[in-house]
Amino acid sequence: MPTLDIDSPYIKPNRLRIVQRGINVFIKKWRHRFNDAPSCRSIALKAALYSGGLLAIGGLIWFTVKNHLPFSAHAASGVAPSSPGIATPAEAARQLDVGHLPPYRPQRVEQEGIQRRANINTIIPDRPRMGMVQYTVEAGDSLFGIADKFDLRPETILWGNFDVLQDDPHSLRPGQELNILPIDGTFYEWHEGDSLNAVASFFSVDPQEILGWPGNSLPPYLDLSNPDIVPGTRLVIPSGRREFVSWQAPRISRSNPAVARIAGPGACGSVYDGPVGEGFFIWPTTAPLLSGYNFSSFHPGIDIAGSTGNAVFASASGVVGYAGWNNCGYGYMVVIDHGDGWQTLYGHMSQVNVVCGQAAFQGGVIGGVGSTGNSSGAHLHFEMQHDAYGKVNPFDLVSP
Ligand SMILES: [Zn+2]
Repeated sequence: MPTLDIDSPYIKPNRLRIVQRGINVFIKKWRHRFNDAPSCRSIALKAALYSGGLLAIGGLIWFTVKNHLPFSAHAASGVAPSSPGIATPAEAARQLDVGHLPPYRPQRVEQEGIQRRANINTIIPDRPRMGMVQYTVEAGDSLFGIADKFDLRPETILWGNFDVLQDDPHSLRPGQELNILPIDGTFYEWHEGDSLNAVASFFSVDPQEILGWPGNSLPPYLDLSNPDIVPGTRLVIPSGRREFVSWQAPRISRSNPAVARIAGPGACGSVYDGPVGEGFFIWPTTAPLLSGYNFSSFHPGIDIAGSTGNAVFASASGVVGYAGWNNCGYGYMVVIDHGDGWQTLYGHMSQVNVVCGQAAFQGGVIGGVGSTGNSSGAHLHFEMQHDAYGKVNPFDLVSP
């Protein structure tokens, strides 16, 4: 293999080599000149010649370095280095000439696809509630409103609060503390000697429904007939239901007034004669709207809007079977027996204009709208009952 000769015409010498060679020639030449100089030449002249030589060498070195190193060249031209490893960003920024940049024009940046938007709200995922909570009734609350607030059925609110509401939706008042179940159903407070089978059967559920509800914290394998549950423990009965305790006035017929005596001082004696209904009914007051509860399993009538003193009409002809105060929450109440199996009931009245045994004719005024008994505002509570069908929805038979 041939050795490389820097003088070979086939190898391109780099600039440093050329400079180095030039310096060597220069030094050699000036060394001869100094050596050949006559002795009479002054030391000052020699110094001047040496200084000139050194300056020339320095100039050559500066020129070479300036043109060889890329960073110096770029820095001098004011353009950022193309290689990021040579200058730090801070240095590059310092040397950047903003005058070379195009003028700034603010404009909207259109993005395609799904954009991310800043969300300032922290969303905490809902966790299912396992236990009961307390709720204080506020002014303006209704049974339906409270149930809606907790995503429960209104029956669940009544079933969870018999001590407070006695199954009567009209008894809701601001300030009452209500139990709010975590799920639709009922709850049961455990008593000494209770059987889980019996409790489940009472509320029409499978015992496993009660055992399986996490909030009840019961061991999965429990003696269902004699479980070891501490008396006073409140068990949630998911999907549990029970009959509503009848707070309604009992059926008071013209021939059986004894039943009415338990309903209050408005009870009448027996009546054998009197008008009989026409077979159809009329709207019993002036206002055409509902105000309060509609007909439901726990509210066996409709609440019709009205102001205190608005007229209440007999919906059909008949005999007054009850007229006066009622102890079951209806306040001043009138019951008309229509003699054809039908009875109508008018509650919360401000005044009663009829007396026991009186004949009432369809459309005749029997009293005034009020807010007596379990009522939180003037309205007419209106019920219709039939011997065979029981309490029926008045909207099936009358309209405003
Ligand atoms: Zn009502």
